[in-house]
Amino acid sequence: MPGQNAHVVIIGGGIAGTAAALALHRAGLRVVVCEAHPRTATDLGAFLTLASNGMKALGQFGAAAPISRAGFDLTSMSALDENGTELIARPLGEVEDELTRFRCLRWSELTAALQAEVGVQGIELRHGAGLLGAVENADGVTAELADGSTVTADLLIGADGLNSLVRTLIDPNAAGPRYAGQRVFYGYTSTATPPSVPGRITMVRGRAASFGYTLSPAGQTYWFARQTAPALEQVGVEPSAELRAQLLEGLQQDQTPTAEIVAATEGILVTNARDLPQVEKWRSERMLIIGDAAHAASPATGQGASMAFEDAVVLAKALRDSPDQDSALKLYEQVRRPRTEYNIAASAAMTGASRPPTLPPAPFSDEDVARHLEWDTPLSA
Ligand SMILES: Cc1cc2nc3c(=O)[nH]c(=O)nc-3n(C[C@H](O)[C@H](O)[C@H](O)COP(=O)(O)OP(=O)(O)OC[C@H]3O[C@@H](n4cnc5c(N)ncnc54)[C@H](O)[C@@H]3O)c2cc1C
Repeated sequence: MPGQNAHVVIIGGGIAGTAAALALHRAGLRVVVCEAHPRTATDLGAFLTLASNGMKALGQFGAAAPISRAGFDLTSMSALDENGTELIARPLGEVEDELTRFRCLRWSELTAALQAEVGVQGIELRHGAGLLGAVENADGVTAELADGSTVTADLLIGADGLNSLVRTLIDPNAAGPRYAGQRVFYGYTSTATPPSVPGRITMVRGRAASFGYTLSPAGQTYWFARQTAPALEQVGVEPSAELRAQLLEGLQQDQTPTAEIVAATEGILVTNARDLPQVEKWRSERMLIIGDAAHAASPATGQGASMAFEDAVVLAKALRDSPDQDSALKLYEQVRRPRTEYNIAASAAMTGASRPPTLPPAPFSDEDVARHLEWDTPLSA
């Protein structure tokens, strides 16, 4: 197989990898994306919420409009206690602008929309091209791929998710993911549709689980449940009858619609919430990890994809605005590390893995974050 050259080779064509490809392309770099999966990407079958900060980041490299055509708007949220009493109801994020509203969509829809946009922009995305290893020297970094080919570039970006190979190439002693203390269940049902305001996501603080549900415009209830319990051995699969019964039993203690929703759902998925609290090295001379590979948080804050979109913008701006690659990667880490570590800590506090009594203040003000993300504003820490 022939070798290929590019400015940047991105490993992983999931959420972080495709977003980085679009942002770096906008900054004028020649990018190749190498995805292990032979067709699209691996899919948990879960759904995601994209927050306004993530939608704003997508807008910086022209992807907010294509993504807003997938899934549906979320414009308000409410919280119920275990007795079904509404504790709060409020608008969600930047409701007024249809490109920065919260969105709800399946993981597969998001990846498909991002990969389609990569194609529209003429960026090369190779499937079945999983990374096997990489060699870096003063002249460049060469990725060895499962299809027998190689790609040589100035920079290799590891957007290869929670179990990142690139993370271990950068640091063979890097700590792997930890169990964050909760099991996460997901499902969809068209037969239990609790009364709901259009565009509303309802969070239930139940006795045995934290639960969220929303009704799609097509009349399907999307739901998740987070339950504090020991880690499961088998995940990404339909839970056993025993596990399903256990979840239902816990939900039946509450006077809320949650048990009825779960009872009406046929295909349920379950996974372990995991995170990466401390990855000491994000980079070597010519390799960098982004997205979940560098800073996976447990799902509680619902910010994983939005953080990956922010990574993409900041990295593109850092490479665009810095005198050389080394300064760009330093600046990137200075801007991204405090914000993503804060998100990991905030999510862990909501998940139960570690409960600091109070979180320290957020590392950057809203104005700083806006400045970091605005495409036309030069990047500085
Ligand atoms: C249960 C659950 C619920 C979540 N809910 C939300 C939510 O509501 N909102 C939100 O914003 N985030 C949510 N997240 C987090 C979000 O899914 C992740 O943050 C996001 O998927 C990270 O994207 P990524 O591209 O870094 O990694 P991934 O999505 O894992 O993508 C990695 C890609 O790399 C590929 N790959 C892996 N190894 C190789 C290799 N060696 N060579 C080439 N390719 C490779 C994989 O096939 C995959 O396509 C949730 C996560 C979980 C587990």
